[in-house]
Amino acid sequence: MSEALGAGAGSPSDPTYGGPHDPEHDPRASYALEPQYVARLTDRVLATTGTTNPVFSPLDGAPLANIPQSSAADVEEAFRRARAAQRAWARVSLEERARILHRVHDLVLDRQAEIMDLIQLESGKARKHAFDEPMHVALTARYYARTAHQHLAPARVPGVVPGLTQVEINRVPKGVVGIIAPWNYPFTMALCDGLPALLAGNAVVSKPDAQTMLSALLAAQLLEEAGVPRDLWQVVAGPGRVLGSEIIGRADYICFTGSTATGKVIARQAAERLIGCSLELGGKNPILVLRDADIERAAEGAVRASFSNAGQLCVSTERMFVADQVYDRFVERFVARTKAMSLGATLGWDADMGTLISADQLETVSAHVEDAVAKGARVLAGGNARPDLAPYFFEPTILEGVTPEMTCFGHETFGPVVSLYRFHDEADAIARANDGEYGLNAAIYTRDTRRGRALARQVKCGTVNINEAFGATFASLAAPMGGMRESGMGRRQGAEGIHRYTEPQSVGVQRLLRFGPVLGMSDQAYAKVMNASLRLMDKLGRA
Ligand code: NAD
Repeated sequence: MSEALGAGAGSPSDPTYGGPHDPEHDPRASYALEPQYVARLTDRVLATTGTTNPVFSPLDGAPLANIPQSSAADVEEAFRRARAAQRAWARVSLEERARILHRVHDLVLDRQAEIMDLIQLESGKARKHAFDEPMHVALTARYYARTAHQHLAPARVPGVVPGLTQVEINRVPKGVVGIIAPWNYPFTMALCDGLPALLAGNAVVSKPDAQTMLSALLAAQLLEEAGVPRDLWQVVAGPGRVLGSEIIGRADYICFTGSTATGKVIARQAAERLIGCSLELGGKNPILVLRDADIERAAEGAVRASFSNAGQLCVSTERMFVADQVYDRFVERFVARTKAMSLGATLGWDADMGTLISADQLETVSAHVEDAVAKGARVLAGGNARPDLAPYFFEPTILEGVTPEMTCFGHETFGPVVSLYRFHDEADAIARANDGEYGLNAAIYTRDTRRGRALARQVKCGTVNINEAFGATFASLAAPMGGMRESGMGRRQGAEGIHRYTEPQSVGVQRLLRFGPVLGMSDQAYAKVMNASLRLMDKLGRA
């Protein structure tokens, strides 16, 4: 049973929240939401077409809601409202904007059970993986609220003539940011990129993925409850291919998370308008287990890295390179831990892994495994769909003997499938980990963390975790997160994650002396004086 309704867990504060009922009694009704509750959420979509698109729960395949669909004219209206709201918002003090982010932090902690229910109903993930989402949003809200001044207050920098030239840098909001988000982490992907955009004085037009609109709409509702003016955060719904260009055609900046293929389309369209964009894309992330690794810790990390959210996580591991000396011991522990996982499509905390989100995902994952097996790969764990658990369920799967002609060797599966490879020397392991076009996340397990850090510099990935799967970097909000090569452009989190939404504006004040000859000095004499002062400044150590 959902904790939202469980004894002692406390009820969500939304009075219309019906919550899912006990699935044991009536599986059809089990995941139904109160119509009033759904209506309050779907009301937030700016849509006048009169058409709707159904959302189904992958837990049981039953319909959850009908989402109103937006037209190009609706997108235009969303931008009109967002622009008007942004002009007022830009005048709200930074302190007040930061206070609102603090309230978002508190609200997502208070309403956690309701948030997790909705995430699970739409995505089918295990509760412990749903928990990562409000937690990540709370971390993001707190980090940016506490560092607002550090990132956004006007900053003094040295002027060219000490004492006479004063320069400061203003961080001017871009205006209206378009956020196009995927389905895999529907609540945090709806909010984590938007919070810094708001703090920096922007408005947002958000287009969540069609499969997970409710989680994104709950996010929008919580923002309003925290004090964000309703018009400042617009939500539109519809196919990405149609609404995407409408958004990119009007936005001042685009923040996209999704596949590399779509990222390239977005980048081309943004280039046409000369607007900036950040792209968080796919990966084929490696883990290296060195000969001196703590094997039990590496096996635990490998399970989390490969099977969190059933592998539908951008920083998931799909390739493991294990030192010859520890290969057999590691594989024994990793396989044992994987086989011991409890699988289930349930709202309870008891499942270690939930279901894939859709028939499309199941088809891709099954095809990758079938192709590998047909070409000679060995299945050490899993390998099968489990329709007995949920319509799109697939077991956590470990493969050995994967070769370059198999699809899952270099292509992202985005599911619970990991391939194991032996290595003899570390240089070879690094070269194989760097193979391919992606470069999102990597992990290295070693007891020698100094050596781990040195090796990390050779890995072509935007984040590298030592003795941890992905959390050490992903949950450290001060650290930029994103991909190298075809895994993306730009970064979320840290200073980069908020500065992308601003235009740096340099304002210089010149006092007394002007830039040119004075008191009848010739241009040649002026050049001599300038040359001498350049040498002097260098001797004085000025930057
Ligand atoms: P996708 O690119 O198909 O869709 C993502 C979003 O883009 C959706 O909202 C979709 O409607 C929209 N979209 C689709 N076509 C569009 C177009 N032509 N123009 C504008 N918008 C368009 O991605 P997906 O397959 O749904 O998501 C999974 C992918 O996302 C995986 O490859 C995964 O690695 C990646 N991902 C990356 C990160 C990260 O932070 N790097 C995080 C989550 C997911």
